[in-house]
Amino acid sequence: MNKSSKLYIAGHTGMVGSALMRKFTAEGFTNIITKTREELDLRNQQAVTHFFQTEKPEYVIIAAAKVGGILANNTYRAEFLYDNLMIQSNIIHASASSGVEKLIFLGSSCIYPRDCPQPIKEEYLLTGPLEQTNEPYAIAKIAGIKLCENYYKQYGCNFYSVMPTNLYGPNDNFDLETSHVLPALIRKFHEAKVNNAELVDKSTLSPVEVWGTGTPRREFLYVDDLADALFFLLSEVEARDIYEQRITHLNIGTGEDITIKELAEMIKEIIGFKGEIIYDSTKPDGTSRKLLDVSRINGLGWRSKIDLEEGIKKTYEWFLKYQ
Ligand code: GDP
Repeated sequence: MNKSSKLYIAGHTGMVGSALMRKFTAEGFTNIITKTREELDLRNQQAVTHFFQTEKPEYVIIAAAKVGGILANNTYRAEFLYDNLMIQSNIIHASASSGVEKLIFLGSSCIYPRDCPQPIKEEYLLTGPLEQTNEPYAIAKIAGIKLCENYYKQYGCNFYSVMPTNLYGPNDNFDLETSHVLPALIRKFHEAKVNNAELVDKSTLSPVEVWGTGTPRREFLYVDDLADALFFLLSEVEARDIYEQRITHLNIGTGEDITIKELAEMIKEIIGFKGEIIYDSTKPDGTSRKLLDVSRINGLGWRSKIDLEEGIKKTYEWFLKYQ
């Protein structure tokens, strides 16, 4: 790969795709192809095939997906399954047919069994039942991993998958109904702080409501760290490096997790909210812990650089500017 290689970033307007655009542009890449949702519906096989045959990208990163937090995953179950199966199958198949040199497919840590030993190693895939709240999304992503693996096994395609942990950062979804926990809490603490500042009677400060019990543990990776990892992998790591280790994909994370309660307290502190936190146990907790074992990617020479506090501060700055 060199700086004029033709790289297609699928999903370039999303949180991950826009971080990839920042990274590859900063690295001097001059031939990045993008298509908006209006220009190319990735669920449409004919349109995707035509795009690949015409553009003939050399490198592909699939950051396009239907994504959302626990409530969205649990509500739009058919859409999460159908849209993701279509998007990834169309891109992977068209990439194989049009001779793409290397492809990286992005999944997420929810592909692992609900009650996995922690930290989660790559080989725990398909060793037990999935968490119910995001099973459709997870099934689609597992199918994507298997497509890459089997296009490698049958046709020798240089395609593989990576599973990032929970991501956050600029361009995240801050909608309270459909977002993940970290952006949701940034919005909730910020809005409560603004509302409370306007109150004359300070004894009636509104609290912030956190879903579930606060006890689940999650690992969070700043999205620019993920873009850095993908740049490293696309430049240095081939499909055979993964499959020869008898695994199907690589984990990407920080290797550290915290409870939702600790996360809420950290965000409260950064935003400077002075009221109380209350826990709404009528909302689901989801899986109790999700911490990835990142020793494989660390062993290949990559580790995360942006710590959680710094990442939340950067994300809050972005939120204040653009939301
Ligand atoms: P998950 O990692 O797939 O479970 O997705 P989320 O990021 O949506 O949720 C992670 C955890 O944070 C779950 O235990 C949620 O119940 C909890 N949580 C607490 N407050 C919120 C909130 O305001 N929004 C979301 N999405 N989750 C929250």
